[in-house]
Amino acid sequence: MNILIIGGGIGGLTLALKLHASGMECSIRICEAVAGAKPLGVGINMLPHAMRELCGLGLEPALRAVGVEAKEFAYFTHHGQFILSEPCGKSAGYDFPHFSIHRADLHKVLFDAAVERLGAGVISMGHRCKGFEQDANGVTAHFADASGKPLPSQKADIAIACDGLHSAVRKQLYPAEGAPVFHGINMWRGVTRAKPFLTGASITRIGGLFMTGKLLFYPVRNNIDADGNQLINWVVELYSDKYEPADWTRPGDINEVLSQFENWRFDWLDAPAILRNAEFTLKYPMVDRDPIAQWTFGRVTLLGDAAHPMYPRGGNGGAQSILDAEALTRHLLASADPLQALQAYAAERIPVTREIVLQNRTAPPDLIIDTVEKKSKGQRFEKLEDVISEDELHAISKNYQRVAGWDKETVSTKGRWPNQP
Ligand SMILES: Cc1cc2nc3c(=O)[nH]c(=O)nc-3n(C[C@H](O)[C@H](O)[C@H](O)COP(=O)(O)OP(=O)(O)OC[C@H]3O[C@@H](n4cnc5c(N)ncnc54)[C@H](O)[C@@H]3O)c2cc1C
Repeated sequence: MNILIIGGGIGGLTLALKLHASGMECSIRICEAVAGAKPLGVGINMLPHAMRELCGLGLEPALRAVGVEAKEFAYFTHHGQFILSEPCGKSAGYDFPHFSIHRADLHKVLFDAAVERLGAGVISMGHRCKGFEQDANGVTAHFADASGKPLPSQKADIAIACDGLHSAVRKQLYPAEGAPVFHGINMWRGVTRAKPFLTGASITRIGGLFMTGKLLFYPVRNNIDADGNQLINWVVELYSDKYEPADWTRPGDINEVLSQFENWRFDWLDAPAILRNAEFTLKYPMVDRDPIAQWTFGRVTLLGDAAHPMYPRGGNGGAQSILDAEALTRHLLASADPLQALQAYAAERIPVTREIVLQNRTAPPDLIIDTVEKKSKGQRFEKLEDVISEDELHAISKNYQRVAGWDKETVSTKGRWPNQP
């Protein structure tokens, strides 16, 4: 079977590695729009549900060498008052670690593994998909280079569109869909060299979005210089009506928002200093798309952000594309008819990811802080238990984990892993 993967991002590369590891008799080709592998993006979290799949591919040592093994989720009010610390990954008893990592490092680990295992010739860089057609004999996808010059078309038995938020394949399938949906939240993102704070491996959320705006900090690289600094990833989230088209590489200006956080200096973290000292700032609107009821159209299906773009919250943008890759490989292995496998894959993954898209809009992990800030009317509290019980806080967190599929019962070594492809 010839399998064409359109898009060599997190989902496309993981799919290629999964198919290869499965031992399935197939020939794989990845066509990626970007001409050269560039270090793009900032931080991303790989939680145990995604790590189960990456560990199954033998990538844990490579990820450990470049990322930071996260120890806890820590929540604070905008006054810097402690709300909750929950252990994560192996510290929480999972069978798999949780890595906070620079997206460029994650992408490089996947890219290098794909080149080493499948051969460099499998990946065609600088190939932007412009559309496809299919008939009873196969699917043919059309490509152009960065200047728009047509490149040879690719024929395959099936094509998997892993071409991200602005998927050209999805656009052809849903021509009336339009731009991603913006609900009035903007993000400023960046990385800063700084000394470790809290445990040195804490994913730290400060402030509720609805009242003050929200900050998120976590380290993505350890020991980056002789002074023991880390590379700290940070995100500012604020309500804002101004929509600028979603582009992960769009530069931003932290001075637009810095004054709102000038007083957020705590004895455990000087938040404005980290924002001010950033190596660069990117600006990205919080966008997603309404869930769709059909991903598979004959020989073509969607995967990752092309299928279910979601708010990049709770570590699920990347993780769900990895889980899609696992499910698709499993169904292709199980069925003699690849078209049926594509249908079965979509039937399994559409309801799961639909729930996460909707939950990420209304009840993300930082709902913990919003709830406390609402109950305390944004004021300092004497004792947290006068505002909310610890049980209530853990219940919010558990609910998110269950929907996102990384509760401990779901992510265990029992069942499929490690015998899966
Ligand atoms: C440049 C970039 C930077 C990002 N930075 C971050 C970040 O810092 N933090 C975070 O949480 N998430 C980031 N993301 C998003 C995150 O990678 C995805 O949400 C998630 O990994 C889902 O994976 P995916 O494979 O579906 O999409 P992506 O990882 O976005 O991969 C899609 C791939 O398809 C390629 N592509 C697009 N159009 C075409 C086409 N027409 N033909 C062929 N190839 C095409 C893209 O170049 C890209 O390599 C970034 C995405 C990109 C593209």
